[in-house]
Amino acid sequence: MKPSSENVYALAFGAHPDDVELACGATLLKIINEGKRVAVCDLTRGELGTLGTAETRKAEAEDACRIMGYTERVGLDLGDGKLFYTEENLQAVITVIRRFRPRVVFANPPDERHPDHMKASKLVADAVYSSGLKQLVTELNGCRQDAHRPSHLFYYVQFKHLNPDIIIDISETFKASRNGILAFGSQFYREGSEPETLINRKEFLTGLEARARYFGEQIGALYGEGLLVTRTPGITNFSGLFS
Ligand SMILES: [Zn+2]
Repeated sequence: MKPSSENVYALAFGAHPDDVELACGATLLKIINEGKRVAVCDLTRGELGTLGTAETRKAEAEDACRIMGYTERVGLDLGDGKLFYTEENLQAVITVIRRFRPRVVFANPPDERHPDHMKASKLVADAVYSSGLKQLVTELNGCRQDAHRPSHLFYYVQFKHLNPDIIIDISETFKASRNGILAFGSQFYREGSEPETLINRKEFLTGLEARARYFGEQIGALYGEGLLVTRTPGITNFSGLFS
């Protein structure tokens, strides 16, 4: 069994390094500011990306981890562009969940432009369930892991517009979360950078801010990040939530 020091409150998965920062970074910072531990797992090294090498992106992911204040960031190598749904890949994701034993998991949304995002979504969703099965044996560093099923799975919003089920007020963490995104310097606009990709256009980060402003507007806040729930949230303190 792994030491309890690795337990985190939230574990965020992304198909590629930078998925998490782009889609739910400000929410993760909010959770960290609430005194909770957050870990991130990149499922691939992003080696098929148009910009940056796998090595550059690894260094950038480590920088983002330090800037954001995650407890830990782990990178799997499940194959950029070939993130297939296999028993082996499912087991790899379960091993990470059992290592960190989170209450809350964040994952790519099931409906997305990039095929890897959709495959990652299904892999993580199934791993969240299967990691709770006692008879499903996994090992880490030669030790058998205890079963653990996270309580909540949320999908973040990426390229496609999806109607969020809940919107997190990120007014206080939005600006700081930008530093986590900008750690991935190879991916975004720089003077003279080419070739032009969807995300290294000069306007990309402005567009991202516009969406955060739009989601914020829906809840009367400056900035918001949208999440899709996988089960209906129960309310125990009605007036606390709807104050
Ligand atoms: Zn991605």
